[in-house]
Amino acid sequence: MSIVTNKELLERALEGHYAVASFNTNNLEYSQAIIQAAYELNAPVIIAAAKSEIDYMNGYAFVAMVRAIAGPLPIPVGIHLDHGPSYEEVVRCLRYGFTSVMYDGSSLPLSENIANTKKVVEAARACGVSVEGEIGVIGQASDGPEGPQIDSDMIGLADVDECERFVAETNVDAFAAAIGNAHGLYKRKPELRFDLLEQIRNKTNTPLVLHGGTGIPLEDIRKAITMGVAKINFSTVMRKGAIETLRNTLNDHPGELDYMKLLTPARNKMVEIAKEHIIMCMSDQKAWK
Ligand SMILES: [Zn+2]
Repeated sequence: MSIVTNKELLERALEGHYAVASFNTNNLEYSQAIIQAAYELNAPVIIAAAKSEIDYMNGYAFVAMVRAIAGPLPIPVGIHLDHGPSYEEVVRCLRYGFTSVMYDGSSLPLSENIANTKKVVEAARACGVSVEGEIGVIGQASDGPEGPQIDSDMIGLADVDECERFVAETNVDAFAAAIGNAHGLYKRKPELRFDLLEQIRNKTNTPLVLHGGTGIPLEDIRKAITMGVAKINFSTVMRKGAIETLRNTLNDHPGELDYMKLLTPARNKMVEIAKEHIIMCMSDQKAWK
């Protein structure tokens, strides 16, 4: 068992009452840390990259790297496009060998989002790749690869009827609905709208994805999982931990010229952070053979 689709990962997560943690990556050390953490906890995991991260790494190099690191390990790993901005970007990722793609048409009028997502589903299904859609714009509490910062008061909320229509018409494998969550660092405690989550869940039977997992308290993460959230995205927390650790290492060893010695503590920190969040999602010891 190694590289699988998100559809398989999330269906098992829903059945097993846990969520699969999805971590964004942008280089070798992040990717090694995410897979190492999942391996040490015997957990399924999703390794994701947004367009800017894929462009930075080279899509073919990224997929080859994940397959090389995760391939020999007895844990299921999904390779996912986060916030695919266009049909063209999705098609490129299908060619790179991703096992799951997200198309984010949430800022478009609903009918356009549905039409584009349907086109993505058709192309992805032909390649055996699963699709995640998005309804209601999930805002940005601070700048990151998912997009530029918007006013945190502009955090959007999904409309229940739109979610129902979106899922029925597109037949996506998973979808992200804005329920008070945001990307980046929250300026104040996030207030997840569990009432909205419950209404969405009652009208749809598709695994839900919670974006902007960084900073959501453990009890809210766990509650969301009991209500049908099967995938939780974490990105900022890993970047913050890695950068802070690297900054400290650089300050402590100003003359060090061994790049590997400088990056190793940051990579170790990311293993620790990824493990903590896998445990939050209750997906530890959930890998299957
Ligand atoms: Zn996101």
